[in-house]
Amino acid sequence: MKKFETNAIRTQAEQTENREHSVPVYLTSSFTFHDAEQMRAMFADEQEGNIYSRFTNPNTTEFVDKMCLLEGAEAGYATASGMAAIFASFMGLLKSGDHIVASSSIFGSTHTVITKFLPKWGIEHTYADVNKPETWEALIQKNTKMIFVETPSNPGLDLIDLQWLGNLANKHNVILNVDNCFATPFIQRPIEFGAHLVTHSGTKYLDGQGRVMGGIVVGKKELIKEIYTFCRSTGPALSPFNAWTLSKSLETLSIRMERHSQNALKLAGLLENHPEVLRVRYPFLLSHPQFEIAKKQMSMGGGIVSFEIKGGIASGRKFLDTLQMCSLTANLGDTRTIATHPASTTHAKLTEEERLAVGITPGLVRISVGLENIIDIVADIEQALNKFKV
Ligand SMILES: *Cc1c(COP(=O)(O)O)cnc(C)c1O
Repeated sequence: MKKFETNAIRTQAEQTENREHSVPVYLTSSFTFHDAEQMRAMFADEQEGNIYSRFTNPNTTEFVDKMCLLEGAEAGYATASGMAAIFASFMGLLKSGDHIVASSSIFGSTHTVITKFLPKWGIEHTYADVNKPETWEALIQKNTKMIFVETPSNPGLDLIDLQWLGNLANKHNVILNVDNCFATPFIQRPIEFGAHLVTHSGTKYLDGQGRVMGGIVVGKKELIKEIYTFCRSTGPALSPFNAWTLSKSLETLSIRMERHSQNALKLAGLLENHPEVLRVRYPFLLSHPQFEIAKKQMSMGGGIVSFEIKGGIASGRKFLDTLQMCSLTANLGDTRTIATHPASTTHAKLTEEERLAVGITPGLVRISVGLENIIDIVADIEQALNKFKV
């Protein structure tokens, strides 16, 4: 078994007779068969091979194979976005009458899917308070089929003890589905702690350069088989070009995540001592209420820092307007540092009460710390904060 970095670089689609060193993009919608018999055998699943790019393609297969090695998963399917992966993981495995327990602290669109769409198909849900893990077991019902969580969560950076949750899921024979977007497999591998499925937005750190949309779900073979059957017929497939981009990006995931984490830790430490800042959240800060969990399941803190600025919603927005270098954009996990104000953007659809319950206070600012020199990142954020002094 090769090491993480080696797998991220050396997992490649088979070379063609051109002996290319870098895998080409397979921009083809379909693949030809030698004869009618091969065509029959492939459609009958008796023979493996590419048929149609909605099903598989050499570029998407390379990306999937690589992610499986990195996450320690048996199988996977790549989708056009992170939301498509999460949605497919629900639709492939849940049916009318089933119940899902979801962490209260999850991505805004995932919250919308669970709250607004799953009930249309008779799939019930209960939100579990991320800050009260002791209440979770009682929420598991006879018809509970899945537990869905995000750790660290977006944007509150709440953590969930994956070992504890893995044990709970296995005790009750429930599928544990973990959105591992913030940590990436370089920092945290949920399957090692008992997760059955791991979902990702490839759009974030997997690409890491803000270029392409993509997503993936990996996990137990028998579960992925159901998800694949759903996707093969409904068509949320990842494009070959985006798969190629994502697979290339994974070659540098380890060094990017190391630097993102280094920069973020430095910024978080400085913000903690700033007079205009009320509270800082970063998994590897001693002050994080779940620092012990962070150390247990993450190898470093990742690139996202959130902090509460004095003065509520007006200050949060003024802070964004005062930044000179950091980008205001609805993405994260980019080489460029990005600042957002969740209460007025990504989580604006939640009620004030729902937001507060997951730690999204009015003045909460989320920084996706990029790979620029940390001196320049800090300088931009400090000049913005210093404008608040009276
Ligand atoms: C962005 C994000 C998603 C959704 O991914 P898309 O690629 O934008 O569809 C899901 N979960 C988390 C934690 C995210 O940050």
